[in-house]
Amino acid sequence: MKVAVLSGGVGGARFLSGVVDVIDPANVSAIVNVGDDLEVLGMSVSPDLDSVLYALAGLADEERGWGRADETWNALATVEALGGEAWFRLGDRDLGLHLVRTQARREGKPLSAVTAQLTAALGVETTLLPATDEPLRTWLDTPNGSFDFQQWFVARSHRDAVDRVRFDGAAAARPAPGVLDALHEADVILIAPSNPYVSIGPILAVERIRAALERRRVPCVAVSPLVGGKAVKGPAASMLQRLEGGTTPAHVAQCYAGLIDALVIDEADADDDAGVRTIVTKTLMRDAAARRSLAEAALDAVALT
Ligand code: GDP
Ligand code: CA
Repeated sequence: MKVAVLSGGVGGARFLSGVVDVIDPANVSAIVNVGDDLEVLGMSVSPDLDSVLYALAGLADEERGWGRADETWNALATVEALGGEAWFRLGDRDLGLHLVRTQARREGKPLSAVTAQLTAALGVETTLLPATDEPLRTWLDTPNGSFDFQQWFVARSHRDAVDRVRFDGAAAARPAPGVLDALHEADVILIAPSNPYVSIGPILAVERIRAALERRRVPCVAVSPLVGGKAVKGPAASMLQRLEGGTTPAHVAQCYAGLIDALVIDEADADDDAGVRTIVTKTLMRDAAARRSLAEAALDAVALT
């Protein structure tokens, strides 16, 4: 069985580590958000691709939820002491990866090719695909102004209410090589419990990816990122409340209208009519066993669609 998974960073990475516990990693393709990508200190950083890469390579810091385990912060402390740009947290081990990627990008290698090089070097058998190789950047319009994703999320701690999410460059963005093949060859498409607006939204903003999902011949199952109407972490619930009018499974399903056949939701969420079939299970991925059983529930849901 071949599986394609649409994924953001942390929630997506946790879910994917469950998926590759159930399905041969070589048969799994992750199509990953690049709307958060940024240039910082002259380096090309792709936070969501890196969260997924570190999780699948077994290098992720489980407690912090992002970045690498056994991380140290000497380079960033030096940057700060020198009055450099230190708002975006980059650990020493993490920096090594950014150096390699940045050099390859400067030599003209597309992001998808660099990503393939990094996954191979780390022994990851899962195919990691940026949604697009073209620049696609998420912007948030808020009552306090418009901010690019990292300004809003990191520098301003996502405190500004969001009136609108925009994807700069989306109109011209083509799917990266391998993305449409992964979607066409998949026996099932999964949408990870990632933020629907700022993690999955940028992927779906690539028109040919959205079209591939709309015209799918195989089931597509999403996993809700909310537990009891609240985000496990981050702004998903407050965005849903403001932009969709609530945080029930129906509101989550509405973000994926026409794109999914089933939604996996938590026992803590009311199983009212969500407009699509719902599968109720425990969705908190607190350890490897929980991640695995959530992946199983999502894959089992396929039989019900
Ligand atoms: P980011 O790019 O690092 O922000 O990560 P994602 O968008 O992939 O993941 C963030 C989302 O994951 C948040 O909306 C969380 O609510 C959700 N999330 C994190 N951990 C869990 C979990 O254990 N279970 C579920 N259902 N959602 C989770
Ligand atoms: Ca992200």
